[in-house]
Amino acid sequence: MRKTKQREVILRVLGTHMDHPSADIIYEEVRKHLPKISLGTVYRNLELMSEAGSIMKLETGGSVKRFDPVVSPHPHFRCIKCGAIEDVPYDEKNVLFSGNTDNWAHGRVIQKLNIEYTGLCANCNGNSPS
Ligand SMILES: [Zn+2]
Ligand SMILES: [Zn+2]
Repeated sequence: MRKTKQREVILRVLGTHMDHPSADIIYEEVRKHLPKISLGTVYRNLELMSEAGSIMKLETGGSVKRFDPVVSPHPHFRCIKCGAIEDVPYDEKNVLFSGNTDNWAHGRVIQKLNIEYTGLCANCNGNSPS
């Protein structure tokens, strides 16, 4: 099996998930297209692809690594009850910089941003007994 083919399928599957899936969830779907692929292979590819910058591995809390097809730096919200991870709407300029920091930004490239909000998602908040 060609490695580029594996990565194409993994990238395509991840691209349809905006909910930051774990390797297990990606594997379950990749397997439908490539029945012979193993979880280890999917995992290795995800690691290599995130090192290469074609996908993003989230540095969020929680025990399972999660992956994101969106590689531009953006903040996340993690539900402490169900583990859902959502993108937080933000203004790129404001979340990265405060005030006039154009001088500071000059010559630098920001590659990663680790902002994680935690709390209860709308679902869990609505369902929690009160
Ligand atoms: Zn939740
Ligand atoms: Zn995201």
